[in-house]
Amino acid sequence: MSSALLYYAKKFSKLRVDLSRGVAPHKPILLLSIIEQIEQEKVQRNQFYLSPELIATFLKYWGQFGSANHNADIALPFFHLQGDGFWHLRANPGFESTVASKTKIRGLNALRNVVKYAYIDDALFSFLTVNKTRRELTDVLINRWFNHQTEKVEELQSYDEFEQTQLKLFESGGATYTVEDLKDQELIFVRNAAFRRNVISLYNQQCAFCHLRILSDNNHNIVDGSHILPFAEFRDDRFDNGISLCKNHHWAFDRGWFSIDDDYRIIVDKERVHEEPSEYTRQMQDFHGEQILLPAKAEYEPRLSALEWHREHWGIAS
Ligand SMILES: [Zn+2]
Repeated sequence: MSSALLYYAKKFSKLRVDLSRGVAPHKPILLLSIIEQIEQEKVQRNQFYLSPELIATFLKYWGQFGSANHNADIALPFFHLQGDGFWHLRANPGFESTVASKTKIRGLNALRNVVKYAYIDDALFSFLTVNKTRRELTDVLINRWFNHQTEKVEELQSYDEFEQTQLKLFESGGATYTVEDLKDQELIFVRNAAFRRNVISLYNQQCAFCHLRILSDNNHNIVDGSHILPFAEFRDDRFDNGISLCKNHHWAFDRGWFSIDDDYRIIVDKERVHEEPSEYTRQMQDFHGEQILLPAKAEYEPRLSALEWHREHWGIAS
């Protein structure tokens, strides 16, 4: 082992973990998770976002190696690994001083608000992108923190947890949650993201209103998997409570600028929407009476009772 590699091997074996209630396995599990993302080329730059994919991977390893005395809270290691010297946080615009001061940030949502991504030392990132050195550093983690269970780790590495979540949701047509479920920020975040991705794919990544479809190479998308009945109130992630809408039309739908009738025709609320004619774009009002784009399978079409709720909520007559 080169001395540079040895340096990180030592860091990995001497992670500063909380021992007050037994070993807190958060940091080693987070490192295993980012290693898997690099290995599977889900992450190609030295930037680790608190993405649904990363969180799902973390929860997968936690399911096997987590401790009953601790919460599976990815926000903890994502923040506290800074204390180990090779892990750094990049702030969202406006939060630079909060991150620089290392003020403790609790909870996934708060952390996502403040932190754009984490990055590691460039030298360490290079080691993790090369098979041989990645293997050596992974072995250090497994032997020190996971009782030499290499086979178990390899078994877990062999499938993509986020894809599995999407697939499971897909097979069941989506899910609904209890108030109790909502306390688990991580799980709900992952499942919501899976819901959104599934809904979008049911509509072929197009806006149901204007048919816009634009994708980017890093999985970004101009359309959102939107809820008809608001999630915060109804906790309903079944696919027939979803509709794929571009950012503009998602925003407009959530404010009742338009609704949809029982024949899936667009109703633009002309009382609310005032538009100047433009030679460049179609006005929203021009879509009035047109049928929205629908999923290929009738079972995923928007639920009529949800659309009825939306019309009534916004006082739009069909
Ligand atoms: Zn649109």
